[in-house]
Amino acid sequence: MEHVWDEDHELSVCKVCGLFEGGLTTDCSGLNVSFDTSEEIYRGKLDYRENEGWVNKFSPMMQSVIYRSIFDFLHSRRENKFSSEAEIQLRFGATSEEYNEIKSKLLKDMYKKEN
Ligand SMILES: [Zn+2]
Repeated sequence: MEHVWDEDHELSVCKVCGLFEGGLTTDCSGLNVSFDTSEEIYRGKLDYRENEGWVNKFSPMMQSVIYRSIFDFLHSRRENKFSSEAEIQLRFGATSEEYNEIKSKLLKDMYKKEN
């Protein structure tokens, strides 16, 4: 199911699972999410997907953090947070497949912008 927004709330929060925008799972689990679980979604590798249930994969928010890290690494010539792409992969605990998936999305986006 999709997340249900609480209109009265100042921050965008889902009425059903209680997750905040910026730390959301791909789909709504339909149950209230505990604090520990929300932390793991936010910092680690946990997502809820309609067809798969709870999975050991990156949430949309974590995917964008990794996306951003690769972008920064490829663009900044000096002062890099990471010394190599392998280090980025290691830092987030991404498999080569996951890392390459995000990187190819980034390269596609970059290519689109230039054309
Ligand atoms: Zn929800």
